[in-house]
Amino acid sequence: MNIHEYQAKKLLGKYGVPIPKGGIAHSATEAIYQASELGGSKWIVKAQVHSGARGKAGGVKLCNSHQEIADFCHNLLGNKLVTLQTGPEGKMVSSIYVEEASDIAKELYFSIVLDRATQKVTLIASTEGGMDIEKVAKETPEKISKIMIDPAVGMQPFQARQLAFTLDLPNEVIGAASRAVMKCYRAFRDTDANLLEINPLILTTDNKVMAIDAKMTFDENALYRRPEILEFRDKTQEDPRETNAAEHDLSYVGLDGNIGCLINGAGLAMATMDMIQHAGGEPANFLDIGGGASAERVATSIELVLSDKSVEAILINIFAGINRCDWVAQGIVDLLNKRDIDIPLVVRLSGTNVEKGQKILKDSGKKVITADTLSDAAHKVVSAWKQANGSKN
Ligand code: GDP
Ligand code: MN
Repeated sequence: MNIHEYQAKKLLGKYGVPIPKGGIAHSATEAIYQASELGGSKWIVKAQVHSGARGKAGGVKLCNSHQEIADFCHNLLGNKLVTLQTGPEGKMVSSIYVEEASDIAKELYFSIVLDRATQKVTLIASTEGGMDIEKVAKETPEKISKIMIDPAVGMQPFQARQLAFTLDLPNEVIGAASRAVMKCYRAFRDTDANLLEINPLILTTDNKVMAIDAKMTFDENALYRRPEILEFRDKTQEDPRETNAAEHDLSYVGLDGNIGCLINGAGLAMATMDMIQHAGGEPANFLDIGGGASAERVATSIELVLSDKSVEAILINIFAGINRCDWVAQGIVDLLNKRDIDIPLVVRLSGTNVEKGQKILKDSGKKVITADTLSDAAHKVVSAWKQANGSKN
């Protein structure tokens, strides 16, 4: 799960990581109020969206007057910001963060990530922070240093100092930089984060170290024990298909093809996607409806698959162990009674109550292509899809 920059800063601030003072606003008036509360004569105003690369997209501005802040808010609030990371559809800007501007001497890069391959936490740092870190990683990887942390032991102060030394900082700030790094690690560890990225971590002209941008993402499977993190969730920033699926407790992953899939069990889902490809098609999604799926859950799942406009045929493949084929069949028929589906629908049922399920489908008189085996189902859905699209052209 992602959170906004201002939320990540609030969290890091609680751990003692140095961050600039700032306030959140949802209107131009509120933004100006925040600026007057902060005082001073220059502020940095930042669109809050779940994306980086806002600076290059016009989502971050250094303002020298209240009027400039108001203009920035009028341009962005209620509109979508398109960055290199959002895709062409962009992300809605509903809030603006107003901060006291810092005088930057140096922009550094610092992040903490969970490295699944080594099962360790990795600290990454570079002297070349700022908006072009991807380019640095590609063209001059020697400018990026890494330190591995054994999670069983935790981060040791010498490792924080070692990292601070790679940042080419004046001697008098090494201590402050290592303390900031230690505090970031604590925040990362205590919240079940899987990424914490500070780009840039800056050295100010008066020799202070400060986090002026912050990105954090969290392990979804640990959210049940982090209610304070869950409060940060902003569903308006998430992929509506995946949010919708998560609300119904369904595992859904969008893919690039046009055959919509509805399957029970992750293993069968993987096998089915392979079979679809083997038969010459491309799956549009991965959807595991899980065990014990009610008719209602099946109907909701089909709706979810159909909400993806690129879906041109559907394959429902159920091997019922805990599930019951009659419930699944009832879910399909209930949905077809409610709405028409004008694309081919192939159903393969097997396992518990299969005869009952097949009877429900047959008696409904609805247009459903049935299949007996996984291979049969994959071939039928791909050929039905080809036929339907042949007749369309
Ligand atoms: P991002 O583009 O989404 O990563 O947004 P950032 O928060 O990293 O801001 C982009 C850039 O704006 C930074 O790399 C800085 O160069 C600049 N910037 C951000 N905050 C300040 C500030 O307080 N003072 C100054 N002078 N520049 C800033
Ligand atoms: Mn940044």
